Amino acid sequence: MKTLKDFNFKDKKALIRVDFNVPLNDDFQVTDATRIVSAKPTIIKILEDGGSCVLMSHLGRPKGVQDEFSLKHIINKIEDIYGVEVKFASDCVGAEAEEKANALQPGEILLLENLRFHEEETKGDKAFAEQLSKLGDIYVNDAFGTAHRAHASTTIVAEFFPVSKCFGSLLAKEIESIKKVMEDGEKPVLAVLGGAKVSSKITIIENILEKVDHLIIGGGMTFTFIKAQGGKIGDSICEDDKMELAIDILKQAEEKGVKIHLPVDVVAANAFSNDAETQICDVKQIPDGWQGLDAGPKSIELFDDVVNQCKTILWNGPLGVFELESFAKGTIELGNSIANSTKNGAFSLVGGGDSVAAVKQFGFEDKVSYVSTGGGAMLESLEGKTLPGIAAILG
Ligand code: AMP
Repeated sequence: MKTLKDFNFKDKKALIRVDFNVPLNDDFQVTDATRIVSAKPTIIKILEDGGSCVLMSHLGRPKGVQDEFSLKHIINKIEDIYGVEVKFASDCVGAEAEEKANALQPGEILLLENLRFHEEETKGDKAFAEQLSKLGDIYVNDAFGTAHRAHASTTIVAEFFPVSKCFGSLLAKEIESIKKVMEDGEKPVLAVLGGAKVSSKITIIENILEKVDHLIIGGGMTFTFIKAQGGKIGDSICEDDKMELAIDILKQAEEKGVKIHLPVDVVAANAFSNDAETQICDVKQIPDGWQGLDAGPKSIELFDDVVNQCKTILWNGPLGVFELESFAKGTIELGNSIANSTKNGAFSLVGGGDSVAAVKQFGFEDKVSYVSTGGGAMLESLEGKTLPGIAAILG
């Protein structure tokens, strides 16, 4: 696996795919610069080597050229964070971009306009990728968030750099963290899967059963399993057409020696609302008119015990409706357990949209080993797929 360490960038122009798809407010100010900050180590290393950086990214989902999606809005923010002046090309391909890239001196940064102003980007168009490839000597991919897309700048462009291509430090860290969990994690290995639906996590569950010793299933998915086992789930969320699958998963787990842990009690509510009446119920005895919206106290204790036994932990998906304060406790306590286990030497990886949001919201970001930056890309990795953006660098 080639990384920045394999190259000396002195007098070289690095063409870097970054993920600067940051949120902007109505005044076009960046409201969360995490992604710009995350790319800093790669860019600074190249500049310090005596190279220059041509940065390419998408922003939002524009239809053609739309000023509100212009990357010019984030120039100041990049300059603030990197402490380097940022030059800008008003189109990511063509004469202006080529001239400005050619004129770039060691230590300088050129930002290209939004790649998705050209529909060829998402189509993975080869001629467009070739035009991009003219803008650098070495291709660096540091955008995990788009690594599952075979777009021109994430995958196809790599064909024009048969040997001069590598992963940036952010993407390398993502790959290493996933590998640490999925391939060479210290045992016992635990996956915690929460979230709303079995159907969106099924491929992950099936793939993960091959890799883990323990699997905690929580959140809304719980109730499909409990109903399938004959429990009474009241009005809790359930996918009736996935009950057979749930039984099959339990059987597969038993055959593979994977211990599955489901909640034993829940916080049930008489409405999907913060102000609803609540009661703690046995997970198999939820009255009609009530729905399970969070893990109960016994479940929290049970999960804490499992988490603290394990040396490698993957967490994807909340244990309850954490967006509502009344049903956030299970997710917060799980975060505490994982933070504690990490402090005691476990490796913990948090990935996938909602669990990342929960980890940030409740302040666990610095208490786990790694928080993934890519939602969809992370989920596809956990499903066991080889991401095209990663394959393109390895190939
Ligand atoms: P996912 O995107 O599949 O990870 O699902 C995350 C969503 O699952 C969050 O918005 C949670 O509010 C929701 N969720 C978690 N537990 C429950 C539950 N018991 N009932 C309904 N929704 C839930």
